[in-house]
Amino acid sequence: MNSRRLFLQKITAAVTLPLAPAFANAFDHSSIAWQGPILKVAIMGLGSYGTRVAEAMLASTKAKLTGVISGTPSKVKTWQAKYGIPEKNCYNYENFDQIKNNPDIDAVYIITPNGLHHSQTLRVAKAGKHVICEKPMALNAVEAQEMVTACKQANVKLLIGYRMHFEAKTLEVVRMRQAGEFGKPLFFQGLSGFRIGDPGQWRLSKKLAGGGAMMDIGIYSVNGARYMLGEEPIWVTAQETKTDPQKFKEGVDETIQFQLGFASGAIASCLSTYTMNNLDKFFLNGEKGFAELQPSTGYGPIQGRTHLGALTQPHVTHQTTQMDEMAEIILNNKKTIIPVDGEEGLKDMKIVDAIYLAANTSKRIDLKL
Ligand code: NAD
Repeated sequence: MNSRRLFLQKITAAVTLPLAPAFANAFDHSSIAWQGPILKVAIMGLGSYGTRVAEAMLASTKAKLTGVISGTPSKVKTWQAKYGIPEKNCYNYENFDQIKNNPDIDAVYIITPNGLHHSQTLRVAKAGKHVICEKPMALNAVEAQEMVTACKQANVKLLIGYRMHFEAKTLEVVRMRQAGEFGKPLFFQGLSGFRIGDPGQWRLSKKLAGGGAMMDIGIYSVNGARYMLGEEPIWVTAQETKTDPQKFKEGVDETIQFQLGFASGAIASCLSTYTMNNLDKFFLNGEKGFAELQPSTGYGPIQGRTHLGALTQPHVTHQTTQMDEMAEIILNNKKTIIPVDGEEGLKDMKIVDAIYLAANTSKRIDLKL
């Protein structure tokens, strides 16, 4: 059978909704080679990153936006028109438990402020839908563990929005490290920061953000230290600096330097800040070579080089690759090179908890991940 016809038949069968013109176009411009199942995704939280993910998903061949969950009716209308989403696939924060009965939605991508991730994940899991949750997955490791347990009990998958885990240059560095091309890894440096604006935003609210720069951007260095070195840390030390206590209130960190120690003897030295721009760099040093990524976690293109020369893997919109890969993880149990599951997010939350404790006590905190 003509592959295009077969593809369109699959879509029509899989997505039981009339294809509005915008929706049909969304399928049209992507490759029609994919003939497997399509992951039907509802986005919860139609803010700036939700918008970016939705636009990137237009180019995904394996995941499609089929629903929305939002507290703002005017945004819902705009998204419905743009993505051809029918009324019956639109929910608000009060009624979204009803997705349980909606076959047009396989997974909910939670892209709301950090402080809401825990309760929203528990509700989505209870509705029997897979969860993709943005980073940081929770406010602390206790919440993160409850999310992992709830999704396991509900027999749904829990994935964390770690888009760098699918990025080509990042994966090349990981491949080289695994192949021994750097020799024994000895040192990682992670610099993660930007200068934050509006003091009234949720990112500066302890209740909604769970902290400050560490929760939002420093977590990239925490996560990066683990996948660049390929090992879990066994201790943490940390030092906090605050120059503007008006803007960065009690419990909202402005700048934290932290160090991680690993059983192999490798060490990591990282900076997390809301006060400095142009701070997006990873450096890995081994006995035989090095890798440097700068920018390392921004939306790209990521740039990098190793002792062997420039990294030349092509740039693809991160969230497009991420959604294609996450569809395969959810629908086909694909195993990825760097995991993105709830346990992976939980490890980062345990490290973040330890970093805060180390900064507050000036003590070295031992970790068991
Ligand atoms: P945002 O403020 O632009 O959007 C948040 C959305 O949540 C808004 O639509 C808002 O209306 C909605 N919302 C629902 N309940 C709310 C409440 N009680 N208070 C405030 N807003 C509420 O934020 P964002 O930049 O889209 O970030 C959302 C999440 O995505 C965060 O967890 C953030 O860390 C994550 N994020 C991840 C990346 C990445 O590259 N993976 C990038 C940016 C943000």
